Amino acid sequence: MAEGAATRTARRTHSFTESVIREMTRVARQHDAINLAQGFPDFEAPLLIKEAACEAIMADINQYAITWGSASLREALVGKYESWYDMPVDGDREVTVTCGATEAMAATMLAIIDPGDEVIILEPFYENYGPDSILSQAVPKFLPLEPPDYALDTDRLASLVSSRTKAIVINTPNNPTGRVFTRAELKGVADVCRKHDLLAITDEIYEHIFYEGEHIPLATLDGMRERTITVSGFSKTFSVTGWRVGTIIAPPDITDAIRKVHDFLTVGAPAPLQEACATAMRDLGRDYYEAGVEAYRERREALYSGLEAAGFQCSKPEGAYYVLADFSELSTEDDVAFAHRLAKEARVASVPGSSFFSEPSRGRNLVRFAFCKRLETLIEAGHRLEAFGARAG
Ligand code: GLN
Repeated sequence: MAEGAATRTARRTHSFTESVIREMTRVARQHDAINLAQGFPDFEAPLLIKEAACEAIMADINQYAITWGSASLREALVGKYESWYDMPVDGDREVTVTCGATEAMAATMLAIIDPGDEVIILEPFYENYGPDSILSQAVPKFLPLEPPDYALDTDRLASLVSSRTKAIVINTPNNPTGRVFTRAELKGVADVCRKHDLLAITDEIYEHIFYEGEHIPLATLDGMRERTITVSGFSKTFSVTGWRVGTIIAPPDITDAIRKVHDFLTVGAPAPLQEACATAMRDLGRDYYEAGVEAYRERREALYSGLEAAGFQCSKPEGAYYVLADFSELSTEDDVAFAHRLAKEARVASVPGSSFFSEPSRGRNLVRFAFCKRLETLIEAGHRLEAFGARAG
């Protein structure tokens, strides 16, 4: 930190570091490495959504949309939740469109947390939840899930609840573990929420990317609709991570609070891109989603076999597009040193495992690889990793 920064800047900014995921993207560029660190596709977005965005811009949908989301996108969302999940949503009172799921999570936390309120976060967790807690002055309580299954134990979850607990944060399909929580596991979460009158914040950004099981929005479980804030977005589903269009479905009173926070943070998500997302939701059929999953399944196999051949220990994710891999057989370095050397020597970038844990030592032998990349990118990465593994062995 520059001299004086400790007094010139707010303490809240001192307690979290720069995003390691984004830092590793810069490291990848520096070494001309294949970037399997940050989860963004290196392949094209669907033509239909790109054309819809261009048309929206040319039709001069270039001014602010309604702060909580354009009417057409909210209407399309109502249709989506109805047709995919049989989940009724009031488009006027229960929807907020945000600048990505990232803003959705932050706005939600700012809207429901009073300083000192506790939130339960399953660990390993997506790195943003830490800073989200700090910004909203929540006290995070971490529930470690144990590899290789990362199963969710209801009793251990319940044991973390105190009189200060406000909410449980659930991400399914999960980044970074690849878990798709089962109905039984989610039912356990629902039981704890109902019993202790807690809110649930669910990050469902990977809802359409899973290989085993089914995606179950927690809000569709008994008694959960009125206490669940469902976060999602289009970055992953339509391969448009740079568009920054996220969504929140929440009961009206909570939506009111979220909309106020969202309005003063960002005013709104990009208007023409909201229009394009609405068009894509309306016009892309089930075959689009099915083909997407099949393509991801192939990518998963390609990365997995490269990792296995190189000597990493890992299991195949059930959903999302990451593999959390143990490199103990390749090196005794810590995760940060290993990830940096891997980027430099193998020219494959990954994310150090400690970024996903409250206690860095728990991620010491792990790195995360993203496989939202073209098959040829993943095959080339596999060759590089295998050659690196052979040198290490
Ligand atoms: N969700 C993606 C990941 O985990 C991208 C993170 C980001 O940079 N916003 O890699």
